[in-house]
Amino acid sequence: MRRQLGAGQSRLLVAAIAAGVCLVGAAGLIASAVVDVAGSRPSAQPSAVPAAPSASPVPTATPSATSTVLTGRPLAGRTVAVDPGHNRDNAQRRTVLAGEQETGTGMAACDTVGAASADGYEESAFAFATARALQRRLEALGARVVLTRRTQSGAGPCFAERAAIAEREGADVLLSLHAEGLPADEAGFTVLRPGPVPRYTEDIAEASGRLGRAVRDALVGEGLAPSPARGQDGLLLRTDVGVLNRSDVPAVLISAGNLHHAQDVERLRSGAGQELVALALAKAVVAYLG
Ligand SMILES: [Zn+2]
Repeated sequence: MRRQLGAGQSRLLVAAIAAGVCLVGAAGLIASAVVDVAGSRPSAQPSAVPAAPSASPVPTATPSATSTVLTGRPLAGRTVAVDPGHNRDNAQRRTVLAGEQETGTGMAACDTVGAASADGYEESAFAFATARALQRRLEALGARVVLTRRTQSGAGPCFAERAAIAEREGADVLLSLHAEGLPADEAGFTVLRPGPVPRYTEDIAEASGRLGRAVRDALVGEGLAPSPARGQDGLLLRTDVGVLNRSDVPAVLISAGNLHHAQDVERLRSGAGQELVALALAKAVVAYLG
């Protein structure tokens, strides 16, 4: 059964889109908007989130990811779906993109504008440039790469279509690339993985968890720090993210940093910073699939 959004939630959704907050098809609009704006731990976060295993906010990366050497064609025969979040012209298509789709735990806008830095550098631009860098690296390693959008222009696609592309193309994994617009004192990356959602993620939740750990370890291995304010050691379990819940292949969403944080935004907008994320993700895919 489809659950209808109340008028109050619809108004919140419009406000969130207008604020440029990255909600990525999150059904828990009220909780997510609070989380993304205030950066606090989500009150609606599932109780299945594991307790803190260590006192250190920076985990020790596992050898499987950090020791990965990118040579040869270890990904030959593999297909990787890379999803650059949002799109450049989403702001001009708000009416269409506000149309709601089922996430598996509720309804959410089919796509959002995404975040931007104070001087206008857009999350969609970071996501697309990094996706292209990752595509080059993965193809050099033998993989076939499917992008869910092939240009940094136009609008969408909707989150259900992004997930469907990965399934139709027979992808082994789906990596969704994003950044955030959080309070200016928050920095670092977060890897979102899908929690168990009956009839949606039961078949991918466990594998997505392993993929998420490989991604987290690889990002740490390249010297990137996980956000101490969100998730646990760089990993965040969510049950309300549409692109993850609708995926039929193991999937994670990489929130690579905060476009409102001075150091993060310089890294996110630089070619070197984008290549670093791409390198880490390529290593993670090899560690997971290789
Ligand atoms: Zn986003």
